[in-house]
Amino acid sequence: MISLHNVSKWYGQFQVLCAVDLDVRKGERVVVCGPSGSGKSTLIRCINRLEVHQEGRIFVKGLEMTDNVKNIDAIRRNIGMVFQNFNLFPHLTVLENLTLGPMLTRHMKKADAEDLAMHFLRKVRIPEQARKYPLQLSGGQQQRVAIARSLCMEPEIMLFDEPTSALDPEMIKEVLDTMIELAESGMTMIVVTHEMGFARTVADNVVFMADGRMVESAPPEEFFGNPREERTRTFLDQIL
Ligand code: ATP
Ligand code: MG
Repeated sequence: MISLHNVSKWYGQFQVLCAVDLDVRKGERVVVCGPSGSGKSTLIRCINRLEVHQEGRIFVKGLEMTDNVKNIDAIRRNIGMVFQNFNLFPHLTVLENLTLGPMLTRHMKKADAEDLAMHFLRKVRIPEQARKYPLQLSGGQQQRVAIARSLCMEPEIMLFDEPTSALDPEMIKEVLDTMIELAESGMTMIVVTHEMGFARTVADNVVFMADGRMVESAPPEEFFGNPREERTRTFLDQIL
């Protein structure tokens, strides 16, 4: 579904990604962790070309991420992305946030887009919030709106960049529960997070990044039970 071969990226002189290899099969869930500045966000942003890599190759469903605009549009349509800070449109209601994409890019009729939006608002358990504005919601509710908004585009892949790190502790669980349900539905997911409980429950593979390199990648039992690399161990000691 997604494969990165030998991907490198620089910001000026600074190498942010160093020869990264990653394969994610359909339905697979990968959790990416690592210290601040290790390149986690950059890595997932390269997958839908919010950032441009300079070396190596990135394929999504057989299409290569290059300057080819047709490929970029096709790939982006298939990838939902959820950020730390929700990125909802503040001047639109929850329902309008959800129907905008389907109406503009999938040319759905308003009534159909609203049916779809309500379907996903029920999935994330906040259908009663449809007529409110984002700032009238709690952080956890806003993040669930953001997830529902991505799902309205009916993507085959979901990328999450620290979706719970801006949330108060009591709201983290409701967002993680939504993500666990999404994983159980078979969604292909790459999740940057330091929620190691989530990684243990959901991940097929946990990846540890440091200094732009993929230091270690293993199934959770192995990753947590018997990490091979010293740097992984040090990192886990710090956060667990
Ligand atoms: P965090 O856990 O803090 O979110 P991260 O692992 O997601 O960190 P990135 O955001 O991918 O890290 O950044 C990796 C490195 O690249 C950092 O050193 C950062 O300062 C640098 N960097 C990121 N974006 C840019 C940019 N637009 N221009 C220059 N340097 C950048
Ligand atoms: Mg980041």
